[in-house]
Amino acid sequence: PSSKLPDVGTSIFTVMSALASEHQAINLSQGFPDFNCPEPLMDLVTRYMHEGFNQYAPMAGMPQLRQKISLKTEKMYGYQPDPDTEITVTSGATEALNAAIMAVVKAGDEVVVLEPCYDSYAPVIRLCGGSPIYVPLALPDFSVDWDQVKKRLSSRTRMIIINTPHNPTGAVMTKQDMDTLANLLEGSDILVLSDEVYEHMVFDGQQHYSALQHPQLRARSFVISSFGKTYHTTGWKVGYAIAPPQLTTELRKMHQFITFSTATPFQLALADFMDEERHYLELPGFYQAKRDYFVEQLQQTRFEVIPSAGTYFQLAKYSGITDARDLDFARRLTIESGVAAIPVSAFYHDKTDNKYLRFCFAKSEDTLRAAGEKLAKV
Ligand code: PMP
Ligand code: GLN
Repeated sequence: PSSKLPDVGTSIFTVMSALASEHQAINLSQGFPDFNCPEPLMDLVTRYMHEGFNQYAPMAGMPQLRQKISLKTEKMYGYQPDPDTEITVTSGATEALNAAIMAVVKAGDEVVVLEPCYDSYAPVIRLCGGSPIYVPLALPDFSVDWDQVKKRLSSRTRMIIINTPHNPTGAVMTKQDMDTLANLLEGSDILVLSDEVYEHMVFDGQQHYSALQHPQLRARSFVISSFGKTYHTTGWKVGYAIAPPQLTTELRKMHQFITFSTATPFQLALADFMDEERHYLELPGFYQAKRDYFVEQLQQTRFEVIPSAGTYFQLAKYSGITDARDLDFARRLTIESGVAAIPVSAFYHDKTDNKYLRFCFAKSEDTLRAAGEKLAKV
């Protein structure tokens, strides 16, 4: 049978996690914590289940949760989105990204995508009949080359997708980046899809700058976040999209036919637990300590550390060890050295290989120490 995505295989995250498990390697590949979410949060889920909240949630999300998202957004970014018309709870950020792209990209449209990038953007654009227009982030720091972006805009450009803090590089966009983007788009009807799932993981005193903080960008943006990242619950698949009313209306038309709604007891539990503001306010420090510990481990190895300003990922360059292709080296590292990582070429449409591996440091100190010991022998 003919395939709608003939060149797409199984996601690298699935492939590397399976390989890690097959070879009992320490899995620093797919991004997820190896520690549990807060106990009170789990208690809330079971409490709501026992209280009978086990049927469909409203399509747009539980009102309590949308209310809390609205308040948190005001507190963090100084803008209070309307829970009824601007916030939609989705089954993970993945669904929000899918719904946003499906809502606005038509056949023949172009969508600017900055590479390396998360693997779900381009396939969805293509399924809509659109074309991803790839612009590489500039080495060595993976900053956005806005002149390049400008050159790739055309009368067919429908949207640009940005991701800050950035998976897989850990790069963080500045206010100046956002100002430049806003200026570039002024006078056009180009939309922005801002993937901010790592919004609470920014280090060294830097601040996350959200598209929501920028009035001109906010008016044309879908801003996406994920409770999976913030609350150590990637398996719950709860995320959300914030967008102006007209865009939200279109996004919800997609959401109601992709999943219709998102798991009820998780939404209720998260709504209550969001009152615990310390949890997300302390997250930068929590993850910065893990990053620092992992970097210390890497400094005992032949890998070269590429500074990570955000996310729970750390890039390392291995050209001092071998000139093997990154996918081959990642496989060998898993099988022979017992540590799994993600080859960064997987985030480029043409598999650009700059000899980087991505390690996830959302792990206990024991896990990171054990991984460090293994990597030191490579
Ligand atoms: N965007 C980025 C940049 C991500 O790293 C992830 C998680 N891997 C997602 C979106 C998807 O988030 P969720 O697990 O909530 O679907
Ligand atoms: N976002 C996670 C990562 O980058 C993986 C999510 C997934 O497996 N789809 O590792």
